[in-house]
Amino acid sequence: MANVSLNRKRVKLKQVLGIRARLALLAVILVAPLMFERIRSLEEARGKQIAQATVEFTTVARHSADAQREVISSVETILKSEAFIRASIGGVSRSCDVLRASLPTSLPWIRTLLIAGQDGRIQCSTNNMYVGLDLSDRPYFQQAQETGRFVLSDFLLARPAQTPTVMAVYPVSALSGESDAVVLATVNLEWMSKIMYNLGGRPGISAVLVDSAGTVLAAPADQRSAVGRPLDNIPLMAAISDMALRSDQDEGSLSFMAADGSRRAVSFIRIAGTNARLIASIDEDKVSAAVSRDIRTAYLQLAFVVVFVLLGALIAAEKLVIKPIEMLADMAKRFGEGDLSARAARNRLPSEFVPLARAFNAMAAQLGQRERELVASNDRLTVMASIDMLSGLANRRGFQSRLDFDWMRAQQHHSELSLLMIDVDHFKLFNDTYGHLEGDSCLTRIGETLSGIAADTLGFAARYGGEEFCLLLPNADLAQAAEIGEKVRAAVLQLCLPHITSEHMIVSVSIGVAATRPNETLRPGDLIEAADAALYAAKHRGRNMVVEHGVVPVRAGIAMAG
Ligand code: GH3
Ligand code: MG
Ligand code: MG
Repeated sequence: MANVSLNRKRVKLKQVLGIRARLALLAVILVAPLMFERIRSLEEARGKQIAQATVEFTTVARHSADAQREVISSVETILKSEAFIRASIGGVSRSCDVLRASLPTSLPWIRTLLIAGQDGRIQCSTNNMYVGLDLSDRPYFQQAQETGRFVLSDFLLARPAQTPTVMAVYPVSALSGESDAVVLATVNLEWMSKIMYNLGGRPGISAVLVDSAGTVLAAPADQRSAVGRPLDNIPLMAAISDMALRSDQDEGSLSFMAADGSRRAVSFIRIAGTNARLIASIDEDKVSAAVSRDIRTAYLQLAFVVVFVLLGALIAAEKLVIKPIEMLADMAKRFGEGDLSARAARNRLPSEFVPLARAFNAMAAQLGQRERELVASNDRLTVMASIDMLSGLANRRGFQSRLDFDWMRAQQHHSELSLLMIDVDHFKLFNDTYGHLEGDSCLTRIGETLSGIAADTLGFAARYGGEEFCLLLPNADLAQAAEIGEKVRAAVLQLCLPHITSEHMIVSVSIGVAATRPNETLRPGDLIEAADAALYAAKHRGRNMVVEHGVVPVRAGIAMAG
């Protein structure tokens, strides 16, 4: 059972994997590697492009971080020199004059310079509205006093216009232990954003400068709205804020899948000497959009090429294999149905099929030749089957078919048809007297005699069986037939074949004659019966005589002896 089902499966598989399917599969196997290689190289190009963009962008980001650092350094330098002035001049009023005069116009990133006392109260400022403001509770102020070092604050909104800013703080005590004043500067964050210009305007790339708490201090023009907002609130940045802010490294990068499904690479660089960090993020999908488009196009091309190749293979299979096979199969089918005239048109076949077509054509020619020979030998056999070898006349079978034919012709022409039934008299005695062989030669002689008379009278002579002969006479009426019967009887007597046991001492025959005009109510057998009856009458009347009769009809239309 298992074998049977396995075989069935094999047959089904063969049907499915017909020649068309196999050619199509072959075509795909040939084409697919080329197309896949193209896609693979595009995928590689995409990887390279992303890597290159990442490297390039990281470099740009580092330069930007350096620029930020330079700005911060310049602020630190200014504050140090102010602190030095404050320490060396001493006295609030003089140092305030110097402070106002020294606000460098060449450093647009410094908005305001301030000097505060140890109590945190601002003693003087390049912007008078800050004078008297108490900064003692500000963390950056406290931190500078505690550490005795330069401090850059987190994001804050400076009064009165709530301007986004950061404070740079430097305690004078760092230079001179005698002074307890603190010099401060408000840093222009717009300027910090300006120097990030080269990080903006790139599709899929974003960069921000954040403080230690993760509030955006500066961003390129196209992302300016992010300034002052916590990183957590900025789409795509939220996911990285923790990683970037908590890292204790000055510099790092990581790659991750964002919530929107895009793959992002992030780099962060700490601005040296501060807790501010420049965070740059790259959307790999957008960076590689062009290559991705190429890859999609390549997949489409692959699909088109595969469909095209499949169609091509199917058409080729149809034209080069299926059609020729169908043509040859049709030819073989026609041979099977006996049409040997079918020939394959070799010029319409692919050259590989030409030998097969030639073989088919040769086979058809040979089969045709054989069939002709067969028909000829069959004809010969048919003739032989209707000839009596002893007398050389037609045998009973031959006579029967000739009777049918003449009967039909006479019926068509409404002409007469006559029949003589001829029987050798006392032939048994002849055999007994002279032997069977002599009997045979006697029959042969009588056959020859009949043949001659048939030729003369346009009749058809046959050996009906045993020592009984017949002569069919188309277009002869009863009288003419009786006359010919007389000729036959006389011709046999003239042979003078000795027959001592017969009353005539020589071989004689008795003849029954019948004639009719065939019509639809009669059968050929009726004519034979009538002639037979006439023959019986001739025997009865003493033999060696011709009895013809149209007197007593066997059926309507038959004339015979009474
Ligand atoms: P009748 O005059 O009444 O016709 O008598 P008959 O002896 O001729 O008729 P019967 O029917 O009694 O005998 C016919 C004989 O013809 C018997 C048979 O041996 C002989 N015969 C039939 N066919 C052949 C043949 O082919 N060769 C020979 N030698 N004899 C044959
Ligand atoms: Mg007989
Ligand atoms: Mg006889």
